[in-house]
Amino acid sequence: MHELAITEEILNLVLSEASRNNAAKVKDVKLVIGEMTGIVNESVAFYFNEISKGTIAEGAKLSFKRVPAAGKCRDCGHQFVVKDFIWACPDCGSLNIDITAGKELYLESLGVI
Ligand SMILES: [Zn+2]
Repeated sequence: MHELAITEEILNLVLSEASRNNAAKVKDVKLVIGEMTGIVNESVAFYFNEISKGTIAEGAKLSFKRVPAAGKCRDCGHQFVVKDFIWACPDCGSLNIDITAGKELYLESLGVI
């Protein structure tokens, strides 16, 4: 994953949300990130710190909520959390799996003043 490009998108979203709310400063940014995105929290925090300089989001505190990868078996209907990226049903061993969680990437909330 390209954290810099993703962080630019996040910053754009943060800034447009902040201006919609007539914010003077962005204090907190809460993000939801699925484990399957491969995005590393620290990289996003690092890039955000760099590219937000000179904007109203400079110095904002980022927090991350990680969503574990989950799947649902198409054969037996079993739902499970995926560990170590093993995409097989723990009940019946089927590889016929739907991904139900873990691809999330969105802004949960924004704290502004
Ligand atoms: Zn199954």
